[in-house]
Amino acid sequence: MAKPAPLFDRLALIGVGLIGGSIARAARGLGLVRSIAATSRSEPTRQRIRELGLADTVADTAAAAVKDADLVIVCVPIGACGAVAKEIGPHLKKGAIVSDVGSVKTAVVRDMAPHFPPSVHFIPGHPVAGTEDSGPDSGFAELFINRWCILTPGKDADPAAVERLTQFWTAFGASVELMSAEHHDLVLAVTSHVPHLIAYNIVGTAFDLRHVTESEILKYSAGGFRDFTRIAASDPTMWRDIFLHNRDAVLEVLGRFNEDLATLTRAVRNGDGDTLYNVFTERRAIRRGMAPLNFGGPAPDFRKPDAEPKAEPLPRPYAADD
Ligand code: NAP
Repeated sequence: MAKPAPLFDRLALIGVGLIGGSIARAARGLGLVRSIAATSRSEPTRQRIRELGLADTVADTAAAAVKDADLVIVCVPIGACGAVAKEIGPHLKKGAIVSDVGSVKTAVVRDMAPHFPPSVHFIPGHPVAGTEDSGPDSGFAELFINRWCILTPGKDADPAAVERLTQFWTAFGASVELMSAEHHDLVLAVTSHVPHLIAYNIVGTAFDLRHVTESEILKYSAGGFRDFTRIAASDPTMWRDIFLHNRDAVLEVLGRFNEDLATLTRAVRNGDGDTLYNVFTERRAIRRGMAPLNFGGPAPDFRKPDAEPKAEPLPRPYAADD
């Protein structure tokens, strides 16, 4: 089948790990760009990008990588986005679309936007897709298939630029949603950030119980706990940055969560079967109501398509690692 015409001439990727590496593979495989320039902070990763053939040009600096690019996507940890924006700002091509993939949006916009000239279109983004792996070897072209990509354009964003970036992500197999950065951060705090915090916490709690050895944790754990351990294996830099940069939304959700947990704790302590039954029945109805929207699609939910199959689909908050 003939490939569609490229959407962009030159894509620049600043940071090539799981996400940047997946974008490079998908964009190249689908012929969405005529050429790719990439860079990474360290020489070993730049060398690996060359060895994997992920880009036509591997630049030593972000400033050099963005030269002549009409689409720039910054794929570094959230805490590094401001410094990258400062470096690339003066070197961006007039009319270029600049985006990112950070899992938090308000702080990223605050840190990046001031460094861009008015002649470029800054359209922040977040592909809600990931695995617990990092680095350029971990990327794969199918990562974004049947996943959401959220764009958070500012009020004055050029609709044509938003539409071009939407087409780019849609071509990867993603569904694009537009929302404000603030709304994104609250939604992701509920569906991803707090669930990750819970996973980190429960894995630590289980490990600290002296009579439960690590091997017993794995041996007897049902699918749910196994997935907690997998989530807790996620990249610590990325997750540290998420909690440092989405503090307010995470604290708001955690406050509500702790209140709800206190209700359940009280019901368990008091042997209050009615409350437990009613809460569980209500939550089951919520899960069943969500099913047609989020689950059971043909795409890999979390892992690489060839990874060991899961026993059953997981609720979405625990399936996305973003
Ligand atoms: P990754 O695999 O660890 O790759 C990170 C890339 O950023 C590498 O090229 C690394 O360079 C570079 N980098 C690391 N620290 C840097 C710094 N201080 N300054 C400049 N460059 C730096 O990370 P990833 O999983 O692709 O995540 C990248 C972004 O995607 C993050 O903002 C994250 O929030 C977002 N995201 C991640 C997921 C996920 O599940 N992983 C999902 C959605 C969105 P070197 O290797 O050369 O050090």
